[in-house]
Amino acid sequence: MRAMVFHGPGDLRSEELPAPTPAAGEVVLKIDAALTCGTDVKTLRRGHPVMIPHVPTVFGHEFAGTVSAVGRGVRHLHEGDRVVAGNSAPCGDCRLCIAGRPNLCEDLLFVNGAYGEYLALPPRVTAKNVVTLSADLPAARAAFAEPLACAVLAIDRVRVESGHTVVVFGHGPLGCLLAMAAAARKARVIVVGKTGWRLDHLRRLSVAEYVDATACGDVVAEIRARTGGRGADVTFDATGRPDVWEQSVHAVGRGGSVVFFGGCAPGTTVTLDTRRVHYEELTLLGAFHHTPEFIRRAVDLMETHAVVPDGLLTHRMGLEDVGRALDLMTRGLALKVLIEP
Ligand SMILES: [Zn+2]
Ligand SMILES: [Zn+2]
Repeated sequence: MRAMVFHGPGDLRSEELPAPTPAAGEVVLKIDAALTCGTDVKTLRRGHPVMIPHVPTVFGHEFAGTVSAVGRGVRHLHEGDRVVAGNSAPCGDCRLCIAGRPNLCEDLLFVNGAYGEYLALPPRVTAKNVVTLSADLPAARAAFAEPLACAVLAIDRVRVESGHTVVVFGHGPLGCLLAMAAAARKARVIVVGKTGWRLDHLRRLSVAEYVDATACGDVVAEIRARTGGRGADVTFDATGRPDVWEQSVHAVGRGGSVVFFGGCAPGTTVTLDTRRVHYEELTLLGAFHHTPEFIRRAVDLMETHAVVPDGLLTHRMGLEDVGRALDLMTRGLALKVLIEP
């Protein structure tokens, strides 16, 4: 089979590999759709010790496919099933899994290999994190399950409901998915982005209101002005920049919640107004990754059309073009690229 193989930072190769056969407990998927992700860009630049502990490995982690072979002992999946799988599975036995926080599993097993014709899912992922799709959910949309699950987990960490104003800092694909998931909860959503085609593109999708951080001098003042001076009920940072983490605290109102969704560079710090955090009872929390439950909920949201992320697909390419697709992502010229093997 053809596959794009990651050999280390900056080293992505198109290779011919033997098609996988399923070991006991595994299934093999024929990949129908894969999506590029900002994490791919980061990983290609500097590697990823957690998601990709061993190289070489077939690259890519957002995908939907069709079960093409079933290993011994697998009874819940069958050849021909259309599925998505999470790109990880928790162990179920560690302290944090037992505490009901499997996204923080001390032995989270990751799976990569979306950018190949076939992918063997390890037994733990096969057993715990595969969702069968209804016939009318297209693969290109279903492949959003993984990033959407991250967004839904983040939204679930706080109260987001009708009557709330939610501000999302960052207009990358995950900022947009956060906005869509918050809109699905009937909240008023404001996305803060920067001038450029991406913001124009998002305006056309009309998921949210937009604040152009480039054009408006003071983003926090703008958000306060749009919320009757009160500030937002909930803010999300989806930029992974410490200065924007601070803005997302400044922009939230009394009793509000701030979710730090974007991971910042190692070693960075932020400054907090301690008076506000205490006397205004701000809730500040991080949100990381997803769990099998949230993969399933993300699929539910798409199957019920509560979230339709298709508008985030800006390009469509073949397997050989993954390098070019990631280059477009790096240069901010694509939101999500659909890769069809
Ligand atoms: Zn991703
Ligand atoms: Zn665990």
